[in-house]
Amino acid sequence: MSKPKKCILLGATGSIGESSLRVIRKHPDKLKLFGASAHSQAEKLISIAQEFKVTNLHLSRSPDALGSPSLETPINFGGNGLEELAAHPEADLVVIAIVGTAALRPTLAALEAGTDVVLANKESLVLGGRIVTETARRTGARIIPADSEHNAVFQCLQGQNEKSLDSIVLTASGGAFRDLPIERLKEVTPEQSLQHPNWKMGPKVTIDSATMANKGLELIEAHWLFGLPSDKLEVVIHPPSIVHSVVRFVDGCCFAQMSPPSMTFALQNALLYPERCSGVESSLDFSKAMDLSFAPPNLKRYPCLKLARDALTQGGSAPLAFNASNEIAVDAFRLNRIGFLEISDIIDHTLNKMSHAQPNSLDELLATDSYARRLSSDRVDALGK
Ligand code: NDP
Ligand code: MG
Repeated sequence: MSKPKKCILLGATGSIGESSLRVIRKHPDKLKLFGASAHSQAEKLISIAQEFKVTNLHLSRSPDALGSPSLETPINFGGNGLEELAAHPEADLVVIAIVGTAALRPTLAALEAGTDVVLANKESLVLGGRIVTETARRTGARIIPADSEHNAVFQCLQGQNEKSLDSIVLTASGGAFRDLPIERLKEVTPEQSLQHPNWKMGPKVTIDSATMANKGLELIEAHWLFGLPSDKLEVVIHPPSIVHSVVRFVDGCCFAQMSPPSMTFALQNALLYPERCSGVESSLDFSKAMDLSFAPPNLKRYPCLKLARDALTQGGSAPLAFNASNEIAVDAFRLNRIGFLEISDIIDHTLNKMSHAQPNSLDELLATDSYARRLSSDRVDALGK
């Protein structure tokens, strides 16, 4: 019997982190937690370390966040510790469950070390798609998608000739306000935006689902993972979140992947790939009536989706600016500094202020990212409370 894969879980304390731990807990003969990171939740990281007997630990926020740790194993802080953990020479797999742009450097570090990456984070591909995919190609490390839509596409493509792929249809739930009259969107609060109808996820991705900036980020993510241009990437609203995406082949046949709306299905597929074993949760129950409706998104309700598609079509630094600006706008909305509808205003304003030349290095990329954040913060100050 082969040894369990040694997994490093970056962002172990978040929603994707928890779902990954459920899969690892279920398959101790196949997966071993070998390292873990958190940002602020030190006590939760300690309890994960104790349960899984892990000694490679990193906390990326300052040490004073640690309080009084009751652990024999020291926790590593700050510096390049996250990248060093991601590049650990003994790791077989690095799971990127960190939210936001902070995931870019550790993703690159793992790929540079030649280690396969299970990628849940989408912002790193939107920010650094070219450099991330080029690093993987150069070192031979694989990027196994764990975002449910991209994992669905990944599953549908297994055993197919890549030349037979025509297009991809990404499904979207439509988020918290899919049925709210459009004129009432200006009143919605951060708390209401965090009530997702189908998925239990971290706060940033839940608000991104309500604006459909999430699907916009996923369009760009799909472009880098599967090499298709914008006009071969469709989006459809599918309220039950059972079909996780559809692949259309050149002969017109479509393949879809279906499972209940829980991330354990995509994560288990990615973590155990290419093996399939019994799942953490029950499969779909076809003895009961099931709705599988699909409808095109109304771009008046979801302006962030249009902005993301335009950014993908424009290329250069436009996707990066979309991502940076969205992060600033979502933070400002969560702090009640701006209204829900101003999220798209801030992104639009930032995209219009920039020239979108292609950054040629990681430093240039990060400098452009900082510039986009500055422009967006200025716009928040101009609009906000
Ligand atoms: P959460 O907010 O629940 O968790 C985020 C994790 O990242 C936590 O472990 C957090 O640490 C850590 N973290 C936060 N900021 C930093 C930082 N600056 N540096 C290092 N680590 C940090 O997010 P989710 O689990 O929901 O999402 C994670 C990623 O996966 C996102 O990119 C999201 O878009 C993507 N995704 C999520 C899905 C979901 O179902 N949740 C579905 C598909 C994709 P701590 O808690 O200790 O502060
Ligand atoms: Mg998704």
